[in-house]
Amino acid sequence: MTGAVATGTLRLVLFGPPGAGKGTQAQLLKERLPIDHISSGDLFRHHLSNGTELGELAREYMNRGALVPDEVTIGMVLDRVATMPDGRGFMLDGFPRNTNQAAALDEALAQRGQRIDRVLHIKVDDDELIRRLSNRYICRKCQKPFTRDPRSGEAPKRCDDCADGGEIYQRDDDTADAVANRLAVYHEETAPVLDFYREGGILADIPGEAAVETVNGLVLKALGLTAEV
Ligand code: AMP
Repeated sequence: MTGAVATGTLRLVLFGPPGAGKGTQAQLLKERLPIDHISSGDLFRHHLSNGTELGELAREYMNRGALVPDEVTIGMVLDRVATMPDGRGFMLDGFPRNTNQAAALDEALAQRGQRIDRVLHIKVDDDELIRRLSNRYICRKCQKPFTRDPRSGEAPKRCDDCADGGEIYQRDDDTADAVANRLAVYHEETAPVLDFYREGGILADIPGEAAVETVNGLVLKALGLTAEV
């Protein structure tokens, strides 16, 4: 595993329910590994903010917390994966979200003589996910997550990570109804993908309720890396 890390060819899936912290862990992993972060949700939001046909098609599904149909999603993500140079690793976040997508990914990689090396399953209970998502805000430009200040109840207005301070907003699908739907979809359609990867022997279960740094330590350990730089 360490050799693969050094060459930056690791191909990972960050797996878990909405609000588990996949995006946060992806940002931290990017500081350690020279691999790209491919988030299907970010790709859709990019299409939405650019007003593309694909974005318009996805909007209604996204707003009610449903999965965008596979005919659209699989092509969008696999096209992005196909742009990766042969020796370059990547981490998928938010894809695959059903067994059909998982099979399509496996097949596309196999055609290139590649495969997923490790699936990091970040586990968090529904109550905690609901609490996190109702307090979650993100930067419109870089997608960095923020939370409300516990004392004032206010979220920051501008991102401290973007050069000219991207606007911070609450996602349309972080409303109570959409969140309930997203969790139901996760349990019904996405969680079964775990068996697919468990059978392949590449699944690592990571408890995701602790502090971000603690979860990051567990993620690094699952990849055979140590927490220190
Ligand atoms: P996320 O940012 O990963 O929570 O994704 C936001 C929304 O984008 C989801 O609720 C879905 O509507 C859509 N989406 C993202 N990834 C997928 C996927 N792999 N399959 C279908 N829909 C997706």
